[in-house]
Amino acid sequence: MKVTDHLEQTKGKTLISFEVLPPLKGGGINSIFQGLDPLMEFKPPFIDVTYHREEFLYNIQPSGYYQKMAIRKRPGTVGICSAIMHHYGVEAVPHLICGGFTKEDTENALIELHFLNIHNVLALRGDARKFDEKFIPEPGGNEYALDLVQQIERMNQGIYMDPSIENGAKTDFCIGIAGYPEKHFESPNMKSDLKYTRKKIESGAGYIVTQMFFDNQKFFDYVSECRKEGIQVPIIPGIKPLTRKYQLASIPRHFYINIPDDLVKAINKATTDQAVKEVGIEWCVAQCKELKAKGVPCLHFYTMGDGATTKKIVEQVL
Ligand code: FAD
Repeated sequence: MKVTDHLEQTKGKTLISFEVLPPLKGGGINSIFQGLDPLMEFKPPFIDVTYHREEFLYNIQPSGYYQKMAIRKRPGTVGICSAIMHHYGVEAVPHLICGGFTKEDTENALIELHFLNIHNVLALRGDARKFDEKFIPEPGGNEYALDLVQQIERMNQGIYMDPSIENGAKTDFCIGIAGYPEKHFESPNMKSDLKYTRKKIESGAGYIVTQMFFDNQKFFDYVSECRKEGIQVPIIPGIKPLTRKYQLASIPRHFYINIPDDLVKAINKATTDQAVKEVGIEWCVAQCKELKAKGVPCLHFYTMGDGATTKKIVEQVL
């Protein structure tokens, strides 16, 4: 079933969904199940699986020269999606990115998903690779998530890259996209960011999942800005608790979001790792309760492999 159908059928109820990361290379599928098992009692209608492209590492050699190595640390997105669907009978949503894919690679990946009965995707551009100053599309690949959405939508109409294919099988992908309550960091302003978000919706995307945020007002403002720009699709808040002190610096650095002063003060006051975690959980529970009271269609939790913490939060929200 499509994510958009689930969202349509909520009838005012707030759904609970999760995002998982493929394990580091060498890890097994059981780590995914162990993280998800305690969460299945919340009946998630869908589970997202992130996509991680290769990274370049520079290893110093005995000669003193550096050797450049391309390594994909977390492969397996499609396999994990398929395993989740078989194991739990729940829809899995693979994240699909532009980076590292030619359009031909993308087409082939979509064919594979279609054959596997996976009909939901979150279409993203991906970030710049470590050591690259900015995002560089693959030669012959999609430059923006908008181009990816358009490619998926063409396949939904049975149009493939090879013009000699007539009456190509029509795929039936439900397309989600990313949204940024605090604006995408490369955008000059929110209006510009939302212009492209609207284009993605007009091109066939059916819902938005947001970047994490710690101040609900940012999310509410974002939703009303979207509505003013004519973006009417469901907007799902992405939720992540702050659980470690170092995240006060790492989250703003990696995700370009603000952490409210009250939360910073409370985290800084906590003297043990456990106390920090409790503050983060308490804040997150309060956020979720307010979002739910305001009628968000779904709370989407970035589990980051920590199913136990996510469970603690969801139990207090439902
Ligand atoms: P785009 O929509 O392409 O936007 C990128 C920037 O370009 C924005 O500033 C936008 O305003 C601008 N822009 C968009 N279209 C155009 C255009 N046509 N012309 C000019 N400017 C334009 N990354 C991963 O690698 N793997 C994941 O699994 C993953 N999952 C994510 C899940 C969520 C919910 C979120 C919020 C992010 C995720 N990301 C993931 C990170 C994401 O790939 C990055 O945030 C990336 O920098 C932008 O992706 P996007 O799809 O929003 O890009």
